[in-house]
Amino acid sequence: MKLNRRKLLWGGATTVALGASGYKLFRGFEDGAEDSQEIPQQLQRAGLDVHVHAMGVGTGNSGCWMSDAMKRSIQARTGLWTLRLSIDQPDLDQAYIGYLIRRIHTAGFLKQVVLLAQDYVYNEQGERAPLRTPFYTPNDYVARLARDHAEFLFGASIHPYRRDALDELDRVAGHGAVLVKWIPNVQAIRLNDPRCRPFYRCLAQHKIALLPHVGDEQAMVVAGQEYGDPRTLAAPLEEGVTVIAAHAASLGYRDGRSNFDLLAEMFPKWPNLYADTSALTLITRWRMLLRLAERTGLYARLVHGSDFPLPPASTVFIGRMPMRRWWNAWKRENPLRRDFEIKQGLGLPEAIYLRGYQVLAPRISAARA
Ligand SMILES: [Zn+2]
Repeated sequence: MKLNRRKLLWGGATTVALGASGYKLFRGFEDGAEDSQEIPQQLQRAGLDVHVHAMGVGTGNSGCWMSDAMKRSIQARTGLWTLRLSIDQPDLDQAYIGYLIRRIHTAGFLKQVVLLAQDYVYNEQGERAPLRTPFYTPNDYVARLARDHAEFLFGASIHPYRRDALDELDRVAGHGAVLVKWIPNVQAIRLNDPRCRPFYRCLAQHKIALLPHVGDEQAMVVAGQEYGDPRTLAAPLEEGVTVIAAHAASLGYRDGRSNFDLLAEMFPKWPNLYADTSALTLITRWRMLLRLAERTGLYARLVHGSDFPLPPASTVFIGRMPMRRWWNAWKRENPLRRDFEIKQGLGLPEAIYLRGYQVLAPRISAARA
């Protein structure tokens, strides 16, 4: 191919544009001065994000743990890079929390987030299986953070096959846990396993909600995608548990039907079933957010979640919303705010940012009493 000056110029410009948008796919520019006046009045520092992960490698005696495979993974390294953190820094766990608290403040629409612990994988015999566990975040660590920082509510994680599962549930209830988080696909939890029933009854008694990952999981090594079958949510629902299906079951198929469709048809039967909007701005799930925005009949069941620290990809939404709105999302460094601006741009209702408080209200008032 003969290269002339014009071709070179075009080639250079294209490379720069692709590089910039590739970079911007995951990380925004530094936020300027706060512009919370752009946030609707009723949402100013009023919203709740029900899905924010606490993670770490154990610095500062956090008790957190991460497998070597996960530490070395592209996901962890790029994820930390988008937060301007590094896997090798000696204060990583504390810097992560510091970063998060600052972004909650500058997000403008958030009052609090539910910070999530993450239990080990347990085998069928109820024994801990650290070799199959990608990361572990202790309940005590998250409970302590929730006690020390008004920005956090305590999201516990307890594998139901643990022999001490019910005792641990009573214990975290005493520390003010508002929900229990599971990633069944990773933690190997069958939601319709009869062994889970006593755990569900105990959850209902404490008015603690369940936040299970539903649908397929692509970010981590899984024990099996069948654990994400939305239909198995009937078991906790039958026991009177309030269930928030994470990611609105947005990936995968079961028996030839999309997990999302299987979940959607359960709402009329179960008034205590909700879905969170977490991870839907990610590069792997963004098309689902477009579909969800069109399903106005489901709006009343949606609860806002981000899935922080996973990075919202604003670039892919170009042309899907008014240009001014897209730019407003694209320029954001703060991933919590970028996620919010994308959802606002697609017309998701403002009520979802307040709904987390409504859904968790029975527990929040019980914990206060
Ligand atoms: Zn998550």
